Amino acid sequence: MSDLIATRLLIIGAGPAGYTAAIYAARANLDPVLLTGLQPGGQLMITSDVENYPGFATAVEGPALMEQMEKQAANVGTAIINDLAMAVDFLARPFRVTGDSGTIYLADTVVIATGAQARWLGLPSERRLQGAGVSACATCDGFFYRGKQVAVVGGGNTAVEEALFLTHHADKVTLIHRRDTLRAEKIMQRRLFDHPRIEVIWNATVEEVLSGGQPEVVTGLRLRDLPSGTETTLPVDGVFIAIGHTPTTSVFRGHVELDDEGYVVTTPGQTTTSVPGVFAAGDVQDKHWRQAVTAAGTGCIAALEAERYLTLQAAPEVPAGALATAAE
Ligand code: NAP
Repeated sequence: MSDLIATRLLIIGAGPAGYTAAIYAARANLDPVLLTGLQPGGQLMITSDVENYPGFATAVEGPALMEQMEKQAANVGTAIINDLAMAVDFLARPFRVTGDSGTIYLADTVVIATGAQARWLGLPSERRLQGAGVSACATCDGFFYRGKQVAVVGGGNTAVEEALFLTHHADKVTLIHRRDTLRAEKIMQRRLFDHPRIEVIWNATVEEVLSGGQPEVVTGLRLRDLPSGTETTLPVDGVFIAIGHTPTTSVFRGHVELDDEGYVVTTPGQTTTSVPGVFAAGDVQDKHWRQAVTAAGTGCIAALEAERYLTLQAAPEVPAGALATAAE
């Protein structure tokens, strides 16, 4: 027989959004249960130095930051369970979530905080050199390339934004795109083309990230010119892959409204979703900012909104005029 765990608030996901929701919910005496999923800690687990999360005078390693968040969430009373949500039923009340372990979670409210994953090119060299010159976040890692040469791969808004951001640090930025036109907004394109330290290589793909030294770091890229098939080497100290993100929402499809890119749709400025009582926080609902600190911020909002929802459920607001009617 499968285990049954009932909770007032079930948080699905163990990144900055999930842990922050847990910290606030636990301190509001909601006794939250948090399911960690397959990669507890989320994207910060593959980030080396984090210098933009407030509260740390010097850089903190991504995994160390997440360990602190986990401990803080546990210390204030969150039940953290290593389980993966495999199926949800948001029509049922309480909501019903089935874990990979077979455990069934019954929850009065749910916070979806399953995050998103950067898309990668899929090269073995790219994977090996993550954290040693290969990154998917210029805001996080651009600072380390002061005075150096970097490349950005992609042709969307993110790639163009990252390229422009990197000019604050790097001496030269090369954007590599597989076609001869960008997908980014025209105004962004204009800024890119006008920038004296950005060069664009069109119709090219990255075949290999080149490396050297001890410890091994990125030294360049082997590029293929698609029309001719010719291969060339571009010397760079770092490469930023900006070919989009994939939100982790497959288990929620059909149960809560998703946009056409698979992100959970939330009310602007809030974390409410198409299902009352189900909230979404962090990168799973944010394709724009995608920072640890913004994810934590929306995690906080989700917990506060869940608490308010539970309070209203327990003592529904008196409709306007009802008191007067009752007194008559
Ligand atoms: P995106 O718009 O999907 O663009 C991804 C880019 O990567 C495309 O140019 C695509 O090339 C390229 N690409 C995909 N797979 C590739 C591969 N395997 N190899 C090489 N190149 C590959 O993704 P995004 O730029 O992350 O933007 C996502 C969403 O967020 C968009 O709706 C965007 O408008 C929005 N966003 C908005 C802002 C803003 O308003 N300031 C900032 C960032 C993002 P093709 O063009 O050939 O398909």
